[in-house]
Amino acid sequence: MTDLARCLAEAYAVALPHRRDGKVADYIPALAAVDPMQFGMALALPDGTLHVEGDADTPFSIQSVSKVFTLALALRRIGSDLWTSVGREPSGSAFNSVVQLESEQGIPRNPLINAGAIATTDRLIDGRDGDAVADEILAFMRARAGDPGVEIDLDVAASEARTGARNRSLAYFMDAFGNLRHPVETVVGVYFRQCAIAMSCRQLARAGLFLAMEGRDPLTGEQLVDPHRARRINAIMMLCGHYDNSGEFAFRVGLPGKSGVGGGILCIAPGQGAIAVWSPGLNEAGTSLAGAIALEHFAYAAGWSVFD
Ligand code: GLN
Repeated sequence: MTDLARCLAEAYAVALPHRRDGKVADYIPALAAVDPMQFGMALALPDGTLHVEGDADTPFSIQSVSKVFTLALALRRIGSDLWTSVGREPSGSAFNSVVQLESEQGIPRNPLINAGAIATTDRLIDGRDGDAVADEILAFMRARAGDPGVEIDLDVAASEARTGARNRSLAYFMDAFGNLRHPVETVVGVYFRQCAIAMSCRQLARAGLFLAMEGRDPLTGEQLVDPHRARRINAIMMLCGHYDNSGEFAFRVGLPGKSGVGGGILCIAPGQGAIAVWSPGLNEAGTSLAGAIALEHFAYAAGWSVFD
């Protein structure tokens, strides 16, 4: 049997020297202050086993990793009608790009770029108060993490709100095309808070388990999304989870993943488990540089790939 703890330790050791190679996101001032030398990994298995390395218990800003969870929540709430508001094709452009929105009439390419995540959050709101929806997202993350201590970092949320001209532009653009059902400030207010959720690798890996287990949280027994939906969320992660770096990640890691500009990556190995890594230094596309190296080595050593 593969010694997964050893694979994790090896991947950690291989990636550790690369921490300095990436660049910490500085367009959100609260993220610019993060120490780039921190590095953590966690592997969650469906039987509840958790293996960890490094700074696996330090909370970090999950940022765009939250988009996977709001996608699951939106699909659960409104079902396939979500796909009238957002597509499911890779964008091949930056996470905050505005260009495609014009040619594609305000329908974002997929739910994992900023515009698509904002459209998804808009549909998740579904006529409710923004605070109630932010609470729902936080409660979902706490339940998935199995930890009521998960919080929204309000400093990060405020920092994003202060510097969020670009995300507001995306939202106004969609609004102009009639693809937003709630006021821009309500929608981005929820979006900034979901991005500012702080979680550790241990919590995030645990939270991703339901996607590895056909939509069922193996530790609580809850069926959170239908099996076919979990498969489709994984398909979208595989094709769109790293923006214009998604092909490279699929090529190197071979597993669905979602990155965030806080330096976290959640990676799903269907039927096997979930892996979370965190290293704040990013590559040019906004994916953790050392984190992607660690996942490449882990997947290779463990023999985990969706292309078996
Ligand atoms: N909150 C960030 C933003 O909207 C999320 C981007 C990301 O993690 N790629 O710009």
